[in-house]
Amino acid sequence: KQSHQVVVIGGGSAGIATAASMLRRQSNLDIAIVEPSDFHAYQPGWTMVGGGVFQPEQTRRSTASVLPKGVNWTKARAASFEPEDNLVKLEDGSEIGYDVLIMAPGIRLAWEKIEGLEVTLGKNGVTSNYRYDLAPYTWELVQRMKSGKALFTQPPMPIKCAGAPQKAMYLSCDHWNRSGNLRDIEVEFCNAGGVLFGVQDYVPALMSYVEKYDIALKLGNNLVAVDGDDQIATFATDEGEVTRDFDMMHVVPPQVAPQFVADSPLAADSGFVDVDQHTLQHVRYPNVFGLGDGCSAPNAKTAAAARKQAPVVAVNALRQLDGKGPTAGYDGYGSCPLTVERGKIVLAEFGYGGKLAPSFPIWLIDGIKPQRLSWMLKADVLPWIYWNGMLKGREWLAGPGGLIAQ
Ligand code: FAD
Repeated sequence: KQSHQVVVIGGGSAGIATAASMLRRQSNLDIAIVEPSDFHAYQPGWTMVGGGVFQPEQTRRSTASVLPKGVNWTKARAASFEPEDNLVKLEDGSEIGYDVLIMAPGIRLAWEKIEGLEVTLGKNGVTSNYRYDLAPYTWELVQRMKSGKALFTQPPMPIKCAGAPQKAMYLSCDHWNRSGNLRDIEVEFCNAGGVLFGVQDYVPALMSYVEKYDIALKLGNNLVAVDGDDQIATFATDEGEVTRDFDMMHVVPPQVAPQFVADSPLAADSGFVDVDQHTLQHVRYPNVFGLGDGCSAPNAKTAAAARKQAPVVAVNALRQLDGKGPTAGYDGYGSCPLTVERGKIVLAEFGYGGKLAPSFPIWLIDGIKPQRLSWMLKADVLPWIYWNGMLKGREWLAGPGGLIAQ
């Protein structure tokens, strides 16, 4: 049986950033990362792929190239946990022991919860920016569409990057507007939730784009089934089921805790890793920490949140290795750059309770207004900071006191 001081489950944004941050603080640490995938994705870039701004290849790198030097990569899937015995079991039946366990498994996209969806994804005009291989199809459809009906859906919370369903819609509308086709395209936003965006301060700016693009808002409409061949979508509403036909539909899938986490003793009732929302320490097992989309903290699930959480977990986990209690705290920061048109962004940044948490002075970037500088951040600066700051544990670029949202 192998055993390590630190075992990280998941080599996504949160797992890599935490391992890098810990190694910056203590270079001789023995860390293993359990990650099955050959590729690491910069998922915030998929919105830009769907909008024809980025090429897909810009948004991912090999896992081997983003792993911090010196970590042990266990290329496997974690299957179950025995936290009383400090044990992780892998899918092949082997076991790994740990002193400290860091859970960063992400959230699971539950495509199968929408009847008929999986078989029609990538054809019949049905697409999603939530998958690397499908985001280019969004841009293909948008360019091809000259008239007809376009639906954009949003499932119930929680989802990662709650603004992404709208970002896809605004960038599509902007293209149709510029090409002169928008007047011939009927656009509907079918959102299972009851509001356009969870933090009210940003709603007026977003509403001005809903009006500009003449989008029909269908709140409380939850996509439950797709008939791809006939291009008909079925939604559950308070008044019963409603069907709509479409020529193009951008779907955001329902999202749930990964099953292997939900089935484990580490889970909260929600299925996510049960952590204290400030220290990110597990509420029952002090040598377990959780962060990123897969933890129970009630922040907006974003890479920007993971960027702020990683150093908090790094500090508290190192103290735990020394037999001491946590000292670092996370304030719930999350960020969502809403691409309202090509060249302008409403930069939502907020902490727990929807409290606004701007990274910049208001004279430079006023988050509640659509701004060009925010677009430059998203298109040029943030990807660079992600690869070279956050994933490298360089917190002067990416961490607490670091300047910038993701
Ligand atoms: P992930 O990065 O998803 O990583 C989870 C990792 O766990 C994966 O590598 C996976 O392979 C691994 N894993 C899964 N199962 C197992 C297992 N059994 N054993 C071991 N490992 C496992 N965030 C922003 O900040 N700004 C944005 O503008 C933004 N836009 C987005 C747009 C889209 C379309 C999408 C999809 C996401 C967007 N996000 C954005 C959200 C952001 O990408 C996530 O919040 C972030 O990646 C979370 O990091 P994570 O490490 O928790 O999860």
